[in-house]
Parts: sequence; C-alpha cells; structure tokens
Amino acid sequence: MFSARRISLKSISGFNPKFASTLAFVESSNNKITPASLSALNAAKKLNQPITAILVGKTSAKIVKDELPKYSANIEKVLIAPDSKYNHYLPEEVSPLLQSILSDSSNDFTHFIVPSSFTGKSLLPRVAAKLNVQPISDIIAVEGPSTFQRFIYAGNAIATIKSSDSLVLASVRASSFEPLEAGAPKELAVQELAYVEPEAKVEAEWVGENIMKSERPDLGSAKYVVSGGRGLGSKENFDKLIDPLAKSLNAAVGASRAAVDGGFVDNSLQVGQTGKIIAPDLYIAVGISGAIQHLAGMKDSKTIVAINKADDALIYNVADYGLVGDLNEIVPELTQKINDA
Ligand code: FAD
Repeated sequence: MFSARRISLKSISGFNPKFASTLAFVESSNNKITPASLSALNAAKKLNQPITAILVGKTSAKIVKDELPKYSANIEKVLIAPDSKYNHYLPEEVSPLLQSILSDSSNDFTHFIVPSSFTGKSLLPRVAAKLNVQPISDIIAVEGPSTFQRFIYAGNAIATIKSSDSLVLASVRASSFEPLEAGAPKELAVQELAYVEPEAKVEAEWVGENIMKSERPDLGSAKYVVSGGRGLGSKENFDKLIDPLAKSLNAAVGASRAAVDGGFVDNSLQVGQTGKIIAPDLYIAVGISGAIQHLAGMKDSKTIVAINKADDALIYNVADYGLVGDLNEIVPELTQKINDA
C-alpha cells in the first residue's frame, strides 16, 4: 500500500512557517506611497503571513498617519525610522538600518520584500551581501514561501527559483502585480526606530534632484503609453508627432533607447531592459523595430499597437494591431481621428 510521507518546509529549506513573517519596504514620493511599493505589498500578501511595513525618512510618520491605514487589512505592524539622514533613501545610510532589523533574531522575519525601484535595487544587494543571503531580484510571481518566478534572457524565458535560505530577500517587478487595494482605514501599531550608524564612513551625499517636469502621466504607472523610436528621425519630429498623439489619449510618453541616445527625449523615458519595465493597458510603438531589449520592457502590455513601415519588423510579433506604413502620415491621421471621436 502506498503511504505518503509529509516533508515539512523547514526540513527542506530551513523555513519554518509557524514563525513566518514579512518585512516590506515601503517608499513614498510627494507624501504618497509609490505604486511600485503597493505592488510589492501585494506580492508580500501572496506569502500569506503577517506583514510589517517599514518606512524611513521625515515623511514616514505622515504617510503612516494619512496613507498606510487604508492598507491596514493586510499590514499587521509598522516600523518607522524618521531620522532625516534617511530622507533621500541613500542606500549607504538605509541598508545598515535594514541589516540591523533583519539580523535581530527577536524580529523573526523570514522574508524581506522591496519594490524593484532604483531604491529597492540599490538596497537589496547591499543588505543581502551583509547578511550572506542570495537575493532574488525582480520576481514576477509568488509560487510559495520559498519559490518565485522571474524572467531570464531579457524576458524570453521564465525561471522558477527556489530559495534555500532561511531569510528570503526579494525585489518585486511592479508591472507583474496589481497595487494592493485600499480598504477601510484601521489604526496600526507603530514602532519608531533610531538612526543606525553605518560601520564605514558614508562617502555618498545627496546633492539634489532634477526631476523632468511633464504634463503627461507618469510613465511607470500610466494606463496608456505612446513610445517613439529611431524611426521618428529627430527630436523635432518626435515632439511634433508623439506629444500630440499622447495628449489625445492622455497617455504617458516613452521611447526606445535609440531615441534616447539620439537626444529625442530624456533617458527617464526609456522603456526596456535597461529602462522602465511597464505593462500599461495600451502601448503604441511608433517607429520602433522591436529589439529584444525593448520588448523586455513592454511586452506584457495588455494591448500593443505598432506603427512601422517595415512589415517584417520584430515589433509585429508581439503587436495586437499593426499599422504598416509611414509614421509621418499615419500618426497625424490617427491623432486627428482620436481628437474628432
Ligand atoms: P531601430 O532598431 O533603428 O528601429 C527603427 C524602426 O523605425 C525600424 O523598424 C524602421 O522600420 C522604422 N521606421 C523608420 N522610419 C520609419 C517611418 N518613416 N515610418 C514608420 N517606421 C519607420 N533598447 C531599448 O529600447 N530599451 C532598452 O532598455 C535597451 N537596453 C539595451 C541594453 C543592452 C545591453 C543593449 C545591447 C541594447 C539595448 N537596447 C535597448 C537597444 C536595442 O538593442 C535597440 O538598438 C533599440 O531598441 C533600437 O531602437 P529603435 O527600435 O528605436 O531603432
């Protein structure tokens, strides 16, 4: 007779579900929780264990008072480290704090989750190296407490990764998880943490930031995106054709790396493997060939429209709709039709 033998998770991975709990790093911008952090919280929720949120910097108390209670159905506890040295998320300052929390055995954290933002990507490897843990970057699905999916080969294959560490450190690809839904606010237990002095002198200093101002929605979270590529030929043509089309749809503007390198737009608008990874409801690619590195940043978009004069352009392999022809004729006509509709 066949008899099944139960293998506990602890015995195969050092993981004990009884004491499982997650620390989630929550970033804010303009006194709001970033959409990427809400997606990371949603990924953390899929682990089915208590979540402690950690916020740093001088706005942390305000966010905890005004914003976080809307998500309290899924958050058990909050840690804040309001010291002004944490205001700009300098990884050299913030990682010693995280390291001290995660290495404190009284905390019992089994998972640490960050959004795959510039901050998250800077923090995760630093903390992982100090704790001697293998980080798992850019997860796109949670299959179990130690098992995650992530893209490899510039998005052409999906790897299923199983961690054997007793502490799992992971960053979350925002476009793969819906933001955590807001609900009825509830008061949260908050613990304030003091500044943690880094072991080594911090050489980095926050000098300032130069944020590109745009009337268009934010590229990282927009529902509609119009992206332009080298096929536009010049900055003037990009501005003349892409901006009005984006405006007609209330869409964000994006670009291929060739358009960025050509000086058509700021590099904060680059979509792709080394730019932003997005999954809007509608992505219109204008004069973009569809190189693998560009597709890595947009192929999860729900509907893709390509405008390209070459009917064998690679972009048509992922497009739902293709308009084959000269973009200089198609784009003004399309913009006009949308404005008239
Ligand atoms: P092209 O490949 O030159 O395509 C232009 C297209 O416009 C062509 O298909 C052409 O048929 C069409 N066209 C031209 N004129 C017209 C017209 N009048 N009407 C209609 N269509 C027209 N690229 C990214 O985009 N994002 C990344 O993050 C990125 N990361 C990279 C990382 C690495 C390590 C490397 C090696 C490369 C990376 N690249 C990235 C670059 C990538 O390989 C391509 O070179 C780039 O995406 C090409 O941009 P493009 O499609 O605008 O230009």
